Amino acid sequence: MRVGCPIHEGARRHPEAEALRFAGRGWTFGELDGEVARWTATLEARGMGQGDRVALLSTSHPAVTFLFWALGRVGAVFAPLNARLTRAELEPLVDAVAPRLTLALEPLRDRLPGAESLEAFPDREAASSSRPPEWEADTPRVILFTSGTTGRPKGAVLTEAAFRASCRASALNLGPHPAPRWLGTLPLFHVGGLAMLTRTAYEGGCLLLHERFDADAVNRAIDVEGASHASFVATTLERVLDARADRRLPDTFRCALIGGGPVPTALLTRARAAGLRALQTYGLTEACSQVTTERPDEADGRTAGPPLPGLEVRIVGTDGATLAVGQEGDVEVRGSTLMAGYWNQPDATRDAFHDGWLRTRDVGVTDARGRLTLLSRRTDLIVRGGENLYPAEIEAVLANHPAIAESAVVGVPEPHWGEVPVAFVVLRPGHVLPEDLDAWCRQSLARFKVPAHFVALETLPRNAMSKVERPVLRKRAMSQAV
Ligand code: AMP
Ligand code: MG
Repeated sequence: MRVGCPIHEGARRHPEAEALRFAGRGWTFGELDGEVARWTATLEARGMGQGDRVALLSTSHPAVTFLFWALGRVGAVFAPLNARLTRAELEPLVDAVAPRLTLALEPLRDRLPGAESLEAFPDREAASSSRPPEWEADTPRVILFTSGTTGRPKGAVLTEAAFRASCRASALNLGPHPAPRWLGTLPLFHVGGLAMLTRTAYEGGCLLLHERFDADAVNRAIDVEGASHASFVATTLERVLDARADRRLPDTFRCALIGGGPVPTALLTRARAAGLRALQTYGLTEACSQVTTERPDEADGRTAGPPLPGLEVRIVGTDGATLAVGQEGDVEVRGSTLMAGYWNQPDATRDAFHDGWLRTRDVGVTDARGRLTLLSRRTDLIVRGGENLYPAEIEAVLANHPAIAESAVVGVPEPHWGEVPVAFVVLRPGHVLPEDLDAWCRQSLARFKVPAHFVALETLPRNAMSKVERPVLRKRAMSQAV
């Protein structure tokens, strides 16, 4: 199916409407369409075409949005990389994507060898493109990396059709709005950020893009820039509420989606008491963001809500059979927003699906009205303020330290970040707990993955199958206030 570029369509219908704001500057749909056309022409002049990949390392910046839409127009695939990763962490991702072009925001270029400068990319003189501003909706559009349980990164392949379906489903749930203004504080290298970017374009709204999360800037956007919608993780919602103190929310603000990791009901209650309509949502990269979201008319923060229109959720037992309402089991998802598969990983792709349903690896339960409550995860995933981290990756770095024989990293609840990693290490004979473990980890791991504490143990607790008993370590970390 061929579909039109929503920026071009917006430029034809409402050229003067604001489409993007960043650092005090605004772009109308007409201006945005002009930028996208110039970027499209530059990409074409470089010979970029259908199926070519472009890797990008950048924080949120207007150029990322120009590039995103221009890549769609030439049929190329957008592979944004997490700007928090180190050079060593980025290398295997770039290898996996085999990009025809790599771009990086100038200050990040040293982490991506061979990357061209994003700011300098579009040719000033680029001839305009003769290509119709439309594309194939069912071919790969974006590759978004999520780390696997083993720490090996997997790239979820998402199509334009999936993004469109997700935008429509979200809009149906939240109800019509003449001109939504979404606060874009989630990074554009995560699905949550891309969901906001596409949602505003398809709805003819404006993306209020922020380079990084800043609670005061968020509140300014709500109070004086007319933000109508926002998405937060628990940590950022809390910071927004702290910074607002008792300030009333203006009527222009409609609601905020809260998800990306466990959301304490008490936090949503606090938000509502402050007049901020917060809806819990459950989503994942492989399903193009939201799967379930509370309905605005019945939100109480106690569940993650029912599936969005067009999506289905089922709970299955260990034998793969569907369970009844009220029974706990594995959460599976079906619908038009699902990924096409993992990039170049047929085995992982096969494992990810069960008769056409996506295995989320989350555990949950639904109620009689189809509302989902998340209970825990099958995997050892740690979610620190919305960023996923996997113990295996941190343990691999610790294993290289000369004083460490073995280690196990577990997630421990922490009020600010939701969860933080704590490392239990067994030392080699004759060693004491090294002072440099933090610095050691920082050399090869993004900062958010560095354990908050290191604890030395004689041995790691193991079960009869010799598997490390992570729940035992988690309990120990919590009871000892390490
Ligand atoms: P990602 O893999 O980065 O797309 O993150 C998706 C994961 O975040 C899900 O598989 C869940 O484990 C977790 N998650 C998202 N929303 C919620 C929620 N409302 N409650 C608990 N966990 C959540
Ligand atoms: Mg995931």
